[in-house]
Amino acid sequence: DPRLEAISEAIRVIPHFPKQGIMFQDITTLLLNHKVFKHTVDIFVDRYKNMDISVVAGIEARGFMFGPSIALAIGAKFVPLRKPGKLPGEVIYEAYELEYGEDCLEMHIGAVQQGEKAVVIDDLVATGGTLSAAIKLLERMGAEVVECACVIGLPEVKGQSRLDGKPLYILVEPR
Ligand code: 5GP
Repeated sequence: DPRLEAISEAIRVIPHFPKQGIMFQDITTLLLNHKVFKHTVDIFVDRYKNMDISVVAGIEARGFMFGPSIALAIGAKFVPLRKPGKLPGEVIYEAYELEYGEDCLEMHIGAVQQGEKAVVIDDLVATGGTLSAAIKLLERMGAEVVECACVIGLPEVKGQSRLDGKPLYILVEPR
């Protein structure tokens, strides 16, 4: 798919952000390019449009940049999974391990119903810790997580093993 090459090239790499030694994959440059932004959304939409998916769950913050467009195009709802203290209603939460320390994702109670089919969207998967917390939140509410999807997958992604057997769909690896 020639679109993948364009997607890969539109992602900017910023060395030493947010700290020394990290090669940060910056998807904001992809968003600046309408054609490539559309390619990215289209690929996910083509994949999920006929799968009876009624929930697109996006992970704060960069999952919010792709998730709603995909949800609208496939006729699904969008459910934001947010960092602690941001959602105003009653929530459930899942803590997960980071390289150093811990973080947490929250979801509104009542956002999904028992038996709904969901996909989880984020910009990038590294260890898979964030995606597994998202899977747990959705499953605790009785949703079925069909797949997790990211624009970028780091090759050292032992993520698969942390995704509890759920399929992971990624478009590109870092250049
Ligand atoms: P994981 O939980 O898989 O180890 O890390 C994935 C999370 O970290 C995602 O929510 C992603 O947005 C963020 N992340 C880590 N490194 C990068 C990076 O280089 N670029 C971007 N855009 N996000 C990153």
